[in-house]
Amino acid sequence: MTPLPGLPTGATDPCVHCGFCLPTCASYRALGTEMDSPRGRIHALKAIEAGEQQLDAVTASHFDSCLGCFACVTACPSGVRYDALLEATRPKLNAPELRNPAQRAFRRLLFALLPYPQRLRTALAPLRGYAGGGLQQLARRSGLTGLLGPQLQALEQLLPPLSPEGFADRWPVVVPAVEPRRARVGLVLGCVQRVFDPGVNGAAVRVLTANGIEVVIPPQQGCCGAVTHHQGEEAQTQQLARDLINSFDAVVGPGKAAGPEPLDAVLVAASGCGHTLKGYGRILNSSAGEGFAAQVRDIHEFLADLGLSDDFQRQLQPLPHGDGTPANQNRPLRVAVHDACHMLHGQGIQAQPRQLLRQIPHLELREPLEAGVCCGSAGIYNLVQPQEAASLGRLKADDLAATQADCVASANIGCSLQIRRHLTEAQHPQTVAHPIELLDRSYSAGTQRR
Ligand code: SF4
Ligand code: SF4
Repeated sequence: MTPLPGLPTGATDPCVHCGFCLPTCASYRALGTEMDSPRGRIHALKAIEAGEQQLDAVTASHFDSCLGCFACVTACPSGVRYDALLEATRPKLNAPELRNPAQRAFRRLLFALLPYPQRLRTALAPLRGYAGGGLQQLARRSGLTGLLGPQLQALEQLLPPLSPEGFADRWPVVVPAVEPRRARVGLVLGCVQRVFDPGVNGAAVRVLTANGIEVVIPPQQGCCGAVTHHQGEEAQTQQLARDLINSFDAVVGPGKAAGPEPLDAVLVAASGCGHTLKGYGRILNSSAGEGFAAQVRDIHEFLADLGLSDDFQRQLQPLPHGDGTPANQNRPLRVAVHDACHMLHGQGIQAQPRQLLRQIPHLELREPLEAGVCCGSAGIYNLVQPQEAASLGRLKADDLAATQADCVASANIGCSLQIRRHLTEAQHPQTVAHPIELLDRSYSAGTQRR
């Protein structure tokens, strides 16, 4: 049997077609067909390897329906590395004959825009008065946005209010720690996160520095490459990864803006980015990539390991919640934790965000029933496969709302946008915030009382 070029030899062999992965598979939940399940896709790869099937447009469409959430990897009792299979297959799906010209053009647009914060800001500037305002509500209610077509309409439906902070990076290269200093880290801002949800990086810097952690923020940093990596755009991903590493090398070292002292870690507050950053060794196939990847930690992972400082913990105050009715005033704030797939299945991080949130007084964690199932965001999936993504978004919003939480804690920008959209559309009252934003609010409430 000849392996598909690029496919790890024998990687499909451990699959015994038991189907244990099917209930957790988001695409199988959305489409209900065997070919859109991990088992079906592995069967197709085996058939292609055996020369019994072609990777034609129909087969490719069943790989395009995969969200790359890796819930199947967690669920598989035989240890099948579907993540490695998908990573090797995705570049092949970009062959021109496998998608129609409109699909290819839309993807090119996204890859030319999303990984470049300055281009994204330029494109969004005319929409600053529209996003989150009355005109947007009117356009949606009147059905005008339906004229955009399904993919551009999906883009419009995710568009959050655009705050001025999202249109410029105004960070100094080094943000000093509150003494005594306990660590020195770099911070990756994320390309979409810094534009669409700039409050997350602001909260991250405040929480880190208040915990005695000096933060180095290279001003020239761009996208980590996660957006393109998830779609098998290898050359662009490698360029973005090299540029990101270079942006750190440009400021850390003797005679450079952040000084010679090495970093204890490179942190990121978006789990989709963290997963890709940790894979730089493989993506770049170089010692520079491996060295950089070895430093990368998810912000929750790092803070939970280091421990919050005593002074920080002393300042934490209960957070306000609910509708202010007398019955609600004295109960704890209920927070449902949403596990992003690239955090849970991709990095094995589950306890740390909960551990940090439990430090907030009178906060009660709620667990959704289907925590391991993807919300439908998955990088650009909710833009290129809008129908499937919307049905998964509705399921996720209902599952989170069923916890009767006041707030959903989500540590990935794509998930946050998707969940906000579907909670709003279903008229569920829950708000969405990053766990670090909740920690920051609780700490700020304490410092304001002094
Ligand atoms: S991938 Fe794993 S869980 Fe899924 S069918 Fe194959 S062996 Fe079973
Ligand atoms: S990565 Fe997610 S969507 Fe794709 S096959 Fe696995 S569980 Fe299904």
